[in-house]
Amino acid sequence: MNGHYAIAIDGPSGAGKSSLARACAKAFGFLYVDTGAIYRTVGLAAYRRGIDRKDETAVAAMLPEIRITMGYNAAGEQRMYLDEEDVSAEIRLPEISICASDVSALPAVRSYLLEMQRKLARENNVIMDGRDIGTVVLPEAELKIFLTASAEARAERRMLELNAKGVEAKFEDVLRDIRYRDEQDSNRDVAPLKPAGDSVLVDTTEIDFAASEALLRSIIREKLGVEEIA
Ligand code: C5P
Repeated sequence: MNGHYAIAIDGPSGAGKSSLARACAKAFGFLYVDTGAIYRTVGLAAYRRGIDRKDETAVAAMLPEIRITMGYNAAGEQRMYLDEEDVSAEIRLPEISICASDVSALPAVRSYLLEMQRKLARENNVIMDGRDIGTVVLPEAELKIFLTASAEARAERRMLELNAKGVEAKFEDVLRDIRYRDEQDSNRDVAPLKPAGDSVLVDTTEIDFAASEALLRSIIREKLGVEEIA
């Protein structure tokens, strides 16, 4: 370790990574880093420019022309900026989820974002969630968790989350998008979604949010020997 603790949480879309990682980060006073939001911002940039998101040359040519930054608001929420514009809400739209999955399969995009993610972990105690945090971004993380749940359970939760935000979403559409992303994220050549050999596997299909949070907190206390501050 480099003087800071790093906890990597990887897993498929809708497994509850962000909500659980955010809650645990708050409990232990760690910085929460949602790396999916960074890929979503690249996906949004390609979408807005009308670029073919599977064309690596075109997407790579766009990267030096855009500026992606992140920050935290007073409530401690991560905000994403594209060329100084706050795009935190727009990147959550279902069509941008697909764009994010498309651009994230491109090696040029992954290497472009690698250093940004590692720098955050060098400078802070982090809980970072994504797809390849334990395998590629932070292979030395003190704790790696692979969080999963059945595709149906994940689609149900994602649908309720979107509806609560006022975005209309049908179960079948959300399930189809989740399966598209599972398939693409797991089968790409570069940094595919898979559990790191030394990760702790947590399946939340049968347990609710509160039970999942309690479980993760106990794993963190036990493996890192740290105490909760909240
Ligand atoms: O986690 P979230 O669903 O917001 O991520 C959006 C997309 O970004 C995922 O479907 C995945 O393709 C990609 N992603 C990734 N590596 C990460 C985080 C996200 O490839 N570390």
